[in-house]
Amino acid sequence: MTLDARRQRLWNAMDIGPVWTLRAPPLPREQGIARMGWEELERSVSACTACELSRARNRTVFGVGYRSAEWMLVGEAPGAEEDARGEPFVGQAGRLLDNMLAAVDLTRSGTTPKSVYIANVLKCRPPGNRNPEPEEVAQCDPFLKRQIELVDPKVVLVMGRFAAQSLLGTDASIASLRGKVHRIEVAGRDVPVVVTYHPAYLLRNLADKAKSWADLCLAREVVAASR
Ligand code: URA
Repeated sequence: MTLDARRQRLWNAMDIGPVWTLRAPPLPREQGIARMGWEELERSVSACTACELSRARNRTVFGVGYRSAEWMLVGEAPGAEEDARGEPFVGQAGRLLDNMLAAVDLTRSGTTPKSVYIANVLKCRPPGNRNPEPEEVAQCDPFLKRQIELVDPKVVLVMGRFAAQSLLGTDASIASLRGKVHRIEVAGRDVPVVVTYHPAYLLRNLADKAKSWADLCLAREVVAASR
């Protein structure tokens, strides 16, 4: 119940109550997330129960690295090791990713221009590493978009078919998405996106490492051009 000022004065004068005032109505979920700072965003991810994945997870996997990085890397979803440790890309694929980053003089640690930020499309592990469901992606998408907005990277390197298709909103093949610079709009900003193979795929298809190297070089050109 809301009271106009006159009624409120009368109630106060008569010393009767209680008096209820209307709190600001809660923001729709997406709008709320779009306003969060880093700490609140991270807390909100760890408390999230918006989809079924929250039931089976051990830990949410928020993201790691430099929060003002020039390069932001986006993978698909946590695997078993990531779910246990709460950090993206810590398994075998993660070790390959670290080596790939080192080859272009980048690292996930520190807060220097060489430091990257790494996140996934999904923050919780799909059981048995199954493919994410569209509903799960839809619920997690505002978190990733806010992370991209807060990092404000010069390039997003998206790894693997699933992450590329989710971020670019397409069902095109990875082969057709590689080798060009895509653009996505995040909170009114134009963000360049380069697509590459997922490191787990590269572990099984060593011959495609050369293509992945070319993708890293393309991303490096995008960053250099924006300086
Ligand atoms: N694969 C991903 O896409 N992300 C991780 O964090 C680990 C493996």
